[in-house]
Amino acid sequence: MDRRGFLKSSALAAGAAAGVYALAGRAPAQDAPASAAAPEAGNKPAVLKISSQETRVPGKSLREKVEKLQKWGAAGVELSANIKDRVAEIKEAVKGTGIAISAVCAGYFQLIDPDEAKRKAGAQRLKELCGPAGEVGSTGVIMVPAFNPHPQLPPKEARKVLVDILPEIGEAAHKAGTRVLMEPLNRGEAFFLRQLADAASICRDVNSPGIGMMGDFYHMFKEETSDRGAFLSAGAYLRHVHLASRLRNLPGQDDRSFVDGFRGLKMIGYQDFCSLECKPKGDADTEIPKSFRFLEQQWKEATI
Ligand code: MG
Repeated sequence: MDRRGFLKSSALAAGAAAGVYALAGRAPAQDAPASAAAPEAGNKPAVLKISSQETRVPGKSLREKVEKLQKWGAAGVELSANIKDRVAEIKEAVKGTGIAISAVCAGYFQLIDPDEAKRKAGAQRLKELCGPAGEVGSTGVIMVPAFNPHPQLPPKEARKVLVDILPEIGEAAHKAGTRVLMEPLNRGEAFFLRQLADAASICRDVNSPGIGMMGDFYHMFKEETSDRGAFLSAGAYLRHVHLASRLRNLPGQDDRSFVDGFRGLKMIGYQDFCSLECKPKGDADTEIPKSFRFLEQQWKEATI
């Protein structure tokens, strides 16, 4: 077996072990108590609930975009970070459509900045965003600890301050009826936090119902040896997924397969959303629904 093959089988084995715990509804740590962060995953058959970031769908208003998503068979819409003054508009936009708020893509909050005052201010901003996110029923608020150009502590210290600061953020998120979701990126964008298993281990250590994580197929292609192993490692901490092709276009617009990753989602009984974060090639009104049909087909092919 070559090195890549070895790594892939190791990732699958580790992921499968984590997945067994996830299916049993508990965190993959030998002595960890049953986690309030992971109570229900694995108890029901997985579902493919397709969503899209609002900015990817053409339309003059959020309502128009939501109506298109509904017509194309989506289940959710993912919002940009600027939701604070849009709560009424958002609620009105989804009213009567059956479309839910899949996530709020919020980004960077200085949580591993070397300056403690900046970390605290960032945590406060993130907690404040959880209020409107909970009000519109969002699954979670997506957060990146730091992008490469941002000032940041060395990795070991960064992980420690993150684990120390996340419980109070998690508590605020949980009270608001939502979660904060860490997003692992690829090394070109963020060297700190690149693999789903790493994010899951932080969730395990924080052990808060208000802290979860997500996976993004685009970044996973660059950082993971196995999509399935990565999702199994994430287990019940996985609360959101971003969809993009290998070149970050729509799923189906290049050779990126989603089947192996979808197998992983089925194995952990995934119940949350899979949301487009990509640039459509061609006419978006034609290409996005085509991509949704492609994803449904890939989901069917992902037999377990
Ligand atoms: Mg993403």
